[in-house]
Amino acid sequence: MAFHSYFLHYPENLQQQIQQLIADDERLTQYFQNKYPEPHDLRSDKQLADYTNGFKQRYLKNTPRLDSVGYKKQADLVKNALGTHTFQRQQHGGKLKAKHHIAIANQLRAAPEALLRCLVVHELAHFKEYDHNKAFYQLCCHMTPDYHQLELDLRLFLVLEQKALSFYQPEV
Ligand SMILES: [Zn+2]
Repeated sequence: MAFHSYFLHYPENLQQQIQQLIADDERLTQYFQNKYPEPHDLRSDKQLADYTNGFKQRYLKNTPRLDSVGYKKQADLVKNALGTHTFQRQQHGGKLKAKHHIAIANQLRAAPEALLRCLVVHELAHFKEYDHNKAFYQLCCHMTPDYHQLELDLRLFLVLEQKALSFYQPEV
């Protein structure tokens, strides 16, 4: 499996460390057990929406309403489409109205809270910045200061998940 494609934009020396970590199932599992022992408890779309709107109200006050937030099956994780923020423009009478939808990959339903936070913050930041530019990442770091480390861990989590090593089970 071509996991290395998730990490291509990291510096060479870091990529080597990552390769060693993901090649060793036990080390990879240990990394997550030490760092993120517990899963979050936001199981439903409603809980996810409340959580997301909490960040929005705190950091992005003057942005349009979020019309929906939910977990969604994302087919192509190779493209790292873990989350999406879609803007739908709709005609309402004479006015053009934008609707905002955030979808979070189902894989994140059973995951550590910090990694869900990373993705939620990322999708929210697209309210202000369409592209992944400097201002975009500054906003992400403003909402969660460890954003860059979390984004790396989120990619590592994908590997954990796809190797069927994830121990974050949703409570039934
Ligand atoms: Zn993005």
